[in-house]
Amino acid sequence: MKDKIKRFAQMVKESQKIVFFGGAGVSTESGLKDYRSRDGIYNTCKKYGIPPEEILSIDFFWEHPETFFEFYREYFISDALPNKAHTAIAQLEKLGKQVTVVTQNVDGLHQKAGSTRVLELHGSAAKYYCDRCGEKYGVEYVANRANAVPKCAKCGGIIRTDVVLYGENLDHNVMESTVRAIWDADMLIIGGTSLTVYPAASFIEYFHGNHLVVINKEQTRSDDAADLVFHDSIGQVMTAMLDEIKG
Ligand SMILES: [Zn+2]
Repeated sequence: MKDKIKRFAQMVKESQKIVFFGGAGVSTESGLKDYRSRDGIYNTCKKYGIPPEEILSIDFFWEHPETFFEFYREYFISDALPNKAHTAIAQLEKLGKQVTVVTQNVDGLHQKAGSTRVLELHGSAAKYYCDRCGEKYGVEYVANRANAVPKCAKCGGIIRTDVVLYGENLDHNVMESTVRAIWDADMLIIGGTSLTVYPAASFIEYFHGNHLVVINKEQTRSDDAADLVFHDSIGQVMTAMLDEIKG
């Protein structure tokens, strides 16, 4: 382990443009549930009698907004704090690296930890807007259960989340920026994702830099291609690597 951490630290030292591509496993260390694991939302949320994937669809949102928001408040609005992984990734910038975080998470924890360039492939649960007039709202407005279905104070339209729902397309600009960042990167660190969700997972195929590192508790489809693989906690690995660099 010590040896691998040393190699990881050396790779980071040699790299200037670094992309961290992360998934749900980055946030589970903050106590947030992921989607697909045994304890994840998709396998444990039974109370609505409807698969969560279906609740999280744009059609369901329009047909049953009350149920949508009840579910949404339970799983997508939280006061979780950044963990060691988020903090370590943010600290890479302080070493003078140009870091782009590409995340499949919608919890905004990378920004809270201090990362300045974050591409949110699946949108953000920190942002809301009126579907009719576009007026923007904060999470507090939607969290307030008095607004069972939150409506726009200006026009009465339904307020929706910026999170990309099933049946919707990913944001074109975010995808383009993601491809460009990965294409330009010297180093790609993949963390907390088993790379099973498309199209998000296909972006990493654009990488042609020097160092590919995978950190994930389970095997991923990129393990074989990686220069270094850790089947371990992202927070621990990233922190150990930073400690190694700082000496
Ligand atoms: Zn409105």
